[in-house]
Amino acid sequence: MLRFAPSPTGDMHIGNLRVALFNYISAVQRDEPLLIRIEDTDKERNIPGKEKEIFEILALFGIQHQEEQLQSNNLRFHRAMAVQLLQDKKAFNCFCTPETLDAKRDASKEAKIAYRYDGACENLSADAVIDNMNPFTIRLKKPTHPITVTDLIKGESTFAPDDIDSFILMRADKFPTYNFACAVDDMLADISLIIRGEDHLSNTPKQIAIHEALGYTKKVEYAHLPIILNAEGKKMSKRDDASSVKWLLEEGYLPEAISNYLLLMGNKTPNEIFSVKEAIKWFDLKTISKAPAHFDIDKLKFINREHLKGLDPKELSRYVGFADEEIGQLAKVYLDEAGTLKELRSKIATVFGPKEVPEEFKEGYAILRDLTLKAPHFDDYDAYKGYLMEHSGLKGKNFFKPLRILLSGAEHGPELSDLYCYLKNYLKEVAK
Ligand code: GLU
Repeated sequence: MLRFAPSPTGDMHIGNLRVALFNYISAVQRDEPLLIRIEDTDKERNIPGKEKEIFEILALFGIQHQEEQLQSNNLRFHRAMAVQLLQDKKAFNCFCTPETLDAKRDASKEAKIAYRYDGACENLSADAVIDNMNPFTIRLKKPTHPITVTDLIKGESTFAPDDIDSFILMRADKFPTYNFACAVDDMLADISLIIRGEDHLSNTPKQIAIHEALGYTKKVEYAHLPIILNAEGKKMSKRDDASSVKWLLEEGYLPEAISNYLLLMGNKTPNEIFSVKEAIKWFDLKTISKAPAHFDIDKLKFINREHLKGLDPKELSRYVGFADEEIGQLAKVYLDEAGTLKELRSKIATVFGPKEVPEEFKEGYAILRDLTLKAPHFDDYDAYKGYLMEHSGLKGKNFFKPLRILLSGAEHGPELSDLYCYLKNYLKEVAK
């Protein structure tokens, strides 16, 4: 089983969507189920409604899963495993107060040495533990050997026991830390491959140490995806609009195009434009670059345009708020200028909306508008144009500028003959 384990703590980040997509593709390729585990153990950071949004986004992107879990429902297992580790003397109760720990951390900082837990509570006698009525955390005993993480993308990284340290499994409030809940849940779900962001690489040896302490010997595979950088070369954060999947969708990037781009970024692919279904045939985690990926919105727009070009005109028409095929075709004419659904909607709205006419063309515009409203139907642009020319007496710029504004709402744009061919049945609406 593979898993995608989002926290319901904010808008879904494209980095997370990338993780979900790679998990989905790998699960299909390996013919293993995919589990969606909502990591809701950090009660203060959970945002109501985000869980529902996660499932909606996954469905929109065609990321199908077979199992669902709320991490908080596994609390009894987290607690039981913590007790087992205490009994096996693999973990210990730590009564150090936050103030004591902070003071030790400050002292290390002053001495310019990395802070490590000093083992203060590791060897307390049983009596000392039982008699102590103060709040306590449960810490895993620091491993006695280095732990090597083998990663499908990054290769091997070895972590010294001191870097893993005696870290906290259960907080004083009796709730598990991320590392403990995650390691226990992955074990219980028999996860075979963990794909997640590289910000978790330093957590992996801790989770392996937990598995070892629990006597879990399954060889779990790992793939940590490189971070995504913005145009300034900084890690894409909430401050970058494009980091939010919701924002990209609202801007009118198609899910197919976003998926295409997320699979292309920092990867070697047989071609540039493809569907997820096609990618399942050739996708290989091992070809993902170790280096950070650079997010390039212009490239995404280029890919979006290619996917928009490939859409069935009727479907495209619906996306821009109409139901007829011709408007879908009309929208395609605008794809040279527009790269997102939002831009296309605005182009089409300009065609059908009230027109802004510069003073010098107002008179010509009024004449052409009246003629168009009264004219018979012309199938052919040249016939329509000939009719208007003949009856208006307008010529050159004084004819073409107001005509362009009448048919498109703009002074520049696609060839009028290209627009006319899809607008000819809507002229009365366009000119109203
Ligand atoms: N809840 C963690 C996150 O959203 C999951 C990390 C993991 O996949 O283990 O970053």
